Amino acid sequence: MKNLGFTLWFTGLSGAGKTTISQGVALELKARGSRVEILDGDVVRTHLSQGLGFSKQDRDTNVCRIGFVASLLSRNQVVAIVAAISPFRDSRAQVRQMNDNFIEVYVKASLEACEQRDVKGLYALARAGKIPEFTGIDSPYEEPLNPEIVCNTQQENITESINKVIKYLETREYIRATSVSSEKPSLTA
Ligand code: ADP
Repeated sequence: MKNLGFTLWFTGLSGAGKTTISQGVALELKARGSRVEILDGDVVRTHLSQGLGFSKQDRDTNVCRIGFVASLLSRNQVVAIVAAISPFRDSRAQVRQMNDNFIEVYVKASLEACEQRDVKGLYALARAGKIPEFTGIDSPYEEPLNPEIVCNTQQENITESINKVIKYLETREYIRATSVSSEKPSLTA
C-alpha cells in the first residue's frame, strides 16, 4: 500500500459530471478514513482565483493555482480532488509535473449531451451570446490523449463512474481494497 496523498484531477466539459463524480468519490474515500479536500473550479474561482477571466492566459493561471494547492495537500497525505474544466492540454501537463501522484480522470460527454443536460443553464446563456469564451461553444476543449481513467457519463450511471475511479485507486494500491472476497484465503484457516 502506498499510503500516500495523491491528486485526482477531473477534467471535462461543463455538465459532463466532474462535480457529481468527485463528490461521490470524496464521500467514499472519507468513509474509508482518507483525508480529502475537493478543489472545485466553480468554488475556486470565487476565492483563490477571484478576478480571473476566461482567456487562455487566465484559465492557465487558474489551473496552475489549483495544481499548486493540490500539490501542497497531496504531499501531506491528503487526497486532493480537483474538478475543473481545465480545457488545455499544456496546462494539464504542467500540473501533472507539479504533482507526484497525479491521476487524470477524463469525464467524457459530448457537447450535445452536456448542452441537453444544461445543469446550470450556462449553455443557453452562452448560445445567446451572454457568456463569451464558453468552453465547447467559442472556446476549445482539448480532450486528454492519455488519461489514467475515462468516465463516459453518457454510457455509465453515476454509481458506475464513481466505482470505476475507486476500483482504479484500489488496483494501483493508492487505497486499500475493501472487498473481503478479493482477499486470498489464509493457509492456516
Ligand atoms: P460538471 O461538474 O462537469 O460541470 P455536474 O456534475 O455539475 O457537471 O453535472 C453533471 C450532470 O450529469 C448531473 O446532472 C448528473 O446527474 C448527470 N450525470 C449523468 N450520468 C452521470 C455520470 N455517470 N456521472 C456523473 N454525472 C452524471
